Formats: sequence, structure tokens, C-alpha cells
Amino acid sequence: MALVEYEGQTYTIAPGETVLDGLLRNGVQAAHACKAGSCGSCMLRAGKGTIPARAQSGFKESWKAQGYFLPCVCVPETDIAVTRVGTDVQLGASITSLELLSPDVMRARLRCDSPIAFHAGQYVTILREGPLARSYSIASLPDESEIELHIRKIAGGRMSGWFHHAAAVGDRVSVLGPSGECFYVPGREEQPILLVGTGTGLAPLYGILRDALRHGHRGPIHLFHGALHKGGLYLVEELRRLAARHKHVEYTPTVLNGSESDGMAVGAIDQVVLNRFPKLAGWRAYVCGDPGIVQTLRKKLFLSGISIREIYADAFLPAACS
Ligand SMILES: Cc1cc2nc3c(=O)[nH]c(=O)nc-3n(C[C@H](O)[C@H](O)[C@H](O)COP(=O)(O)OP(=O)(O)OC[C@H]3O[C@@H](n4cnc5c(N)ncnc54)[C@H](O)[C@@H]3O)c2cc1C
Repeated sequence: MALVEYEGQTYTIAPGETVLDGLLRNGVQAAHACKAGSCGSCMLRAGKGTIPARAQSGFKESWKAQGYFLPCVCVPETDIAVTRVGTDVQLGASITSLELLSPDVMRARLRCDSPIAFHAGQYVTILREGPLARSYSIASLPDESEIELHIRKIAGGRMSGWFHHAAAVGDRVSVLGPSGECFYVPGREEQPILLVGTGTGLAPLYGILRDALRHGHRGPIHLFHGALHKGGLYLVEELRRLAARHKHVEYTPTVLNGSESDGMAVGAIDQVVLNRFPKLAGWRAYVCGDPGIVQTLRKKLFLSGISIREIYADAFLPAACS
């Protein structure tokens, strides 16, 4: 059993238990979301004790040296003393605009207190009122002065509900990140690119598509955006105009229930993609949104010939809150 010292109190961590689970079990209001070592929202800083390597995996050397670690994947082997992280890893940000793109999707723009370096398509974790933390993909480009997020309204959702019903221009949040590997890597400008997303899975793809064009990508780029029905799609006219301006860009809005006479493909998005492109050897793919669809597509795209190393995916997993 290890002891963890946190804000003047000492808590016991059971054998095999993570620091985060131990703190939560003891009633500590610690920020967390994914509980899987990816969103970074639970990050703490160790003042004494040894941190297992897994809890600092992928961190910059400077962060490791300062004792930052992820308590959600840290099973302590020694007693440790920890503190919350400060503004050195979390940035303050103000909401500068809120605009409904469809009845269920809010475009929120945020201006960070200091510039944040990111690749289009990565995600940030937004923190509000202390422990509430959720990840959102970045739809904007790195050289734009504000970060753009597309937030889908979830029934009973604490963060999305706040953005849809209570947030106002000028409200403050904290931003952690960026994280994620789902972004355009310049080079191989002739390679065909497939972008497939459902719902707000369009957010990272909207950034990646524009980033690829900005970098002069010349190979074909095909974007499929899927929703259950027509009302679930958004930015349709803007994307049609963008495709019309670039001969090598194609855009296929796709609905599960609807009519082709509306200019949409109809059917399950994985089927629509594979009917159009049954052989995909040599392509690069980005797949984002609903976790089930992301998992299915990864498998089917691989079986259609795309190397697993060329499939970049972000599944919008719900927060694992206790
Ligand atoms: C890497 C990553 C990137 C993401 N990017 C985006 C993004 O760009 N845009 C976006 O809108 N979301 C995105 N998400 C999802 C987002 O982080 C939140 O999970 C989502 O907004 C719900 O949070 P909430 O606080 O509103 O709901 P919560 O309070 O967490 O959940 C309320 C209830 O709804 C359920 N629930 C949660 N999510 C869903 C869902 N998708 N479908 C059905 N039920 C659900 C929960 O189980 C719970 O019962 C991303 C997630 C990850 C991991």
C-alpha cells in the first residue's frame, strides 16, 4: 500500500490501484475524463517519490524532469507527494463566439491567453469549474488566432450542455493540450487522402482538409461526412464550395436515412466509402467520430489495402467518469 500526499492530506492507495482512483475513492475532487492516459486532464506534479515510466509516457523531457505525470495510469511503487498543475501546462482562454451550425452542433471559438502550438486535427481538453474536463478536436488552422471547436449537444451532457445552454461570449475556461496523432503530415503531396467522419467527427477533418490544401497537397482528397439524417450534417454548402474551388477535392455528404435526390449518398458510411473506393492500397486515411464506426472503418480500410500505419483515427469516446 502506498501513501499519497495531496494538498496537505495523506491518502492510502490500495495495491494495484491508480493514484487517480485512490484519490477519487477518498473523496478528492480531482479533474479527470478518459482515465486511459490520453486526454491529460488529470495531470499532477510529483514533488517526491518515484513515478513509473508509463505515467510519463510520451511526455517532453522537460515535463518529466519537473515531475509531471498522469495519475490515471500511475500505480505507485513508493509513497509520493503530489500537487495540482498550474498555468505552465494549462492555459486560460475566453470564449469569443458561439454559433449554431445545426440544431445539435455549436461552433465555439476560443482565444487562449497565450498562443498554443498545435496541428490541425489534434484535440484539446477543456476544463471548467475545477474537475469537469472533456476533449474536443480542433477544427481551426494553426495560424488562425482562435481555436475552433464543434460541440455536439448530448442529452444530459455536462460540458456540451453548458456550451449549448449556458455559455456566453467572454466566459473563461482552461485549455490543456494539444494531444493526438490525427493530423496532416506534410510530404508525399501526390498521395490520395481519404477523410471519413460522423457527426462532429467533421471537426478534425475540416482542419486537416484545409491544412493539406494549405501545404499544397496535390493528390486526390475525398471527404465523406456522415449523419443519421440530413439535419445532422453541417457546413454542407461551405464544403461544396470548397470542393468546387479545388478540382482534386471531392465531398460526399452521407446519410443513413434519406434520399439521394437531396444530393447525398444514402447508406451506412463504411459501405458508401467502400462502394466508391473498393481498393485503397497506397492511400492515407483519417477517421473520426463515433467509436463504433471508427473501429469498423479501421478494420475495413485495412482490409481494402491501406497500411495500418497510414490510418489515423480519433474515436470520440465518452468520458469515463465515476
Ligand atoms: C479525442 C476526443 C475528441 C473528441 N472530440 C469531440 C469533438 O470535436 N466534438 C464533440 O462534440 N465531442 C468530442 N468528443 C467527445 C467529448 O469529449 C465529450 O465526451 C462529449 O462532449 C460529452 O461530454 P458531456 O460532458 O457533454 O457529457 P457527459 O456528462 O460526459 O455524459 C452525459 C451522458 O451522455 C452519455 N454520452 C456521452 N457521450 C455520448 C455520446 N457521444 N453519445 C451518446 N451518449 C453519450 C454519457 O455516457 C452520460 O450518460 C471527443 C472525445 C475524445 C476522446
